[in-house]
Amino acid sequence: MFSYRHAFHAGNHADVLKHTVLIATLDHLLEKDAALTVVDTHAGAGLYRLDGDYAGTSGEAADGVLRLLSDPKPAAGEAASPAKGSAKKTAEKPPAPLSDALSRYLEVIRDFNPKGGARIYPGSPFITHHLLRDHDKLKLFELHPTDARTLDANIAQLEAGRQISVLRDDGFGSATKFLPPPSRRALVLCDPSYEIKSDYGRVLDFVAEALKRFATGTYAVWYPIIPRPEAHDLPRRLKTMATKAGKPWLHATLTVKSSKITTDATGATHRPGLPASGMFLINPPYTLKPLLAAALPQMADLLGQDRNAAFSLDSGG
Ligand code: SAM
Repeated sequence: MFSYRHAFHAGNHADVLKHTVLIATLDHLLEKDAALTVVDTHAGAGLYRLDGDYAGTSGEAADGVLRLLSDPKPAAGEAASPAKGSAKKTAEKPPAPLSDALSRYLEVIRDFNPKGGARIYPGSPFITHHLLRDHDKLKLFELHPTDARTLDANIAQLEAGRQISVLRDDGFGSATKFLPPPSRRALVLCDPSYEIKSDYGRVLDFVAEALKRFATGTYAVWYPIIPRPEAHDLPRRLKTMATKAGKPWLHATLTVKSSKITTDATGATHRPGLPASGMFLINPPYTLKPLLAAALPQMADLLGQDRNAAFSLDSGG
């Protein structure tokens, strides 16, 4: 059975990228009144405690969402206030405000933490539900027995009734049954853990099948950027698929550190952990690219851990 548990990684740099894209995409899709169905093929547990045992073990949120929350940049639209105690009118330039997409991401995280800080980190199911209207639907797939049980319990607290379905089933194999939804408007988030090499191929098969059933849906795939041929090929093959289908696409990546394995003076080797990740979207909202063009440099700047920090943003179709 799988060993991946998202609780160890909740709120890390990859979640910041993924959830910023998710929120910006949903905000746009929810501007129209017609019902939206969101299919989350790999839902995780839904909600995480950043002060809990799992998150505390790896502390990945410290280099992700928590860094953003402690940054002094004013939110978009807020005036930067001069430093306290500084009488000089010609003081240093105030920090540039946080981009709209990052401000919006932090606004959502703060909604879950009304007393400040970030004790609670919402996963994709809770972020999505937070933004959906009553007439929208959310379909959640989670295969890990423990996470599926936790997801069930977390979702039950929302008392959302039939708006949310939790399926303890294979997202790759079963999620296309919801496509196209009755309103013919859907966002599909495909966010596997890639702990099995075959996940890369299954993502491609899943997106190909989903596009065949429902060519106008919006598809968002997260993937890790690691030194592995399958990871390198995935965005390239998604791009080919979108281009062949005549669909627009968008590809955003965020690198926070080098992927090199290092050896210290004692001869011990250190693996760097996840250095980078990407989001590939087919039929993205047209509003997403300018939002990410402003947000990605700030993510690289604020979340970068060494001089390899970088981002890329590309689109086509
Ligand atoms: N989307 C979540 C979020 O952003 O908060 C995180 C999901 S986590 C990266 C991937 C999840 O997929 C894990 O909880 C894992 O147990 C689950 N999983 C793995 N294979 C699966 C499959 N074939 N179908 C459904 N869930 C699966």
